[in-house]
Amino acid sequence: MDTDRSLTIAEELALRGITRREFLKFCTIMAGILALPVDRAEKIARALENVRRPPVVWLEFQDCAGCTESLLRANRPSVAELVLDIISLNYHETIMAPAGRAAEKSLQDTIKEGGYLTIVEGSISTADNGVYCCIAGRSALEILQEVAANTAAIITVGACAFYGGWPATPPNPTGAKGVKDIISGVPIVNLPGCPMNVDNLTATVVHYLTFKELPALDSLGRPLFAHGHRIHDNCERRGHFDAGEFVEAWGDEGHRKGWCLYKMGCKGPVAFQNCPSIRWNEGTSWPVGAGHGCIACAALNFWEMPAYEPVPIHALTPPATYPAVEPAAGMSPITAGVIGAAVGVAAGVAGAVAVHQLTKEKEA
Ligand code: SF4
Repeated sequence: MDTDRSLTIAEELALRGITRREFLKFCTIMAGILALPVDRAEKIARALENVRRPPVVWLEFQDCAGCTESLLRANRPSVAELVLDIISLNYHETIMAPAGRAAEKSLQDTIKEGGYLTIVEGSISTADNGVYCCIAGRSALEILQEVAANTAAIITVGACAFYGGWPATPPNPTGAKGVKDIISGVPIVNLPGCPMNVDNLTATVVHYLTFKELPALDSLGRPLFAHGHRIHDNCERRGHFDAGEFVEAWGDEGHRKGWCLYKMGCKGPVAFQNCPSIRWNEGTSWPVGAGHGCIACAALNFWEMPAYEPVPIHALTPPATYPAVEPAAGMSPITAGVIGAAVGVAAGVAGAVAVHQLTKEKEA
């Protein structure tokens, strides 16, 4: 459906038959994702009802289009799609209706008007003046610099726009870089991930529209609400880690029982994202829940991490100090259980402290 940019979001909602109840439910979910007190949902609702649609330019460069796929599969309440639809797609190279000169005119008109949000997906080719990625006869580098000059803020989505992603893996023939390595002097929010979780994009936009500012960021420019917590600390398999119950091979008994995937290469102990809480596919699942270790897709240079090797979490290697799951020969099950529990608790605490210290060291 076409949207009239003179309408407020409340007017758009009414036009599209979205009930107030559905709208308030959406605002409550957004407050939850943003880690705000529930009473802020009302403030979000008031702000969104009265805001006019800001224009958004979505640039897509060197990537697999996974983040656009993520956008198209936004399936929280339909209001989320509506909010993104209303503010987005003034210009989107992959899914906009116009093509050719009409599409480029839309981009130029938006730039001229100014005050728009820019969303960047994909890395930027910088080698040989950016010749390896061109759109409408101009390099991605040139387009990004032009769009960035008049934008209110940039939101990067996915690993490629964050630090270069897979196009930047050695030998990086196109000189692929992320936005933060090219653009300065413009507020930039990074929503990495491979792909980004569209709920985090929706929440970032809602925060911007409600509070007229971007959310608080960590040292890598990622929103704290989405990247402020370690996956390992919120993982449903954490109890098995602390108990020394690990999957040793795909499909083994531990795998079937949902044990910890650390030994299968899970990067949860050094990864920071809200996957365990907001999840994917309408909040039904996430990679670790489905039986595969976290690959730390929101981390810098994650494509170069060996996916199936355990991440070193401390020189003491806490898992090696865990008690065996099976009782030791010649020991009664009760005695083994008591000793095992005591060692397990001690090792679990040591492990948690070690992980915390290691991550702090990495972040420092
Ligand atoms: S290592 Fe991975 S699977 Fe195990 S508890 Fe941590 S995040 Fe969960």
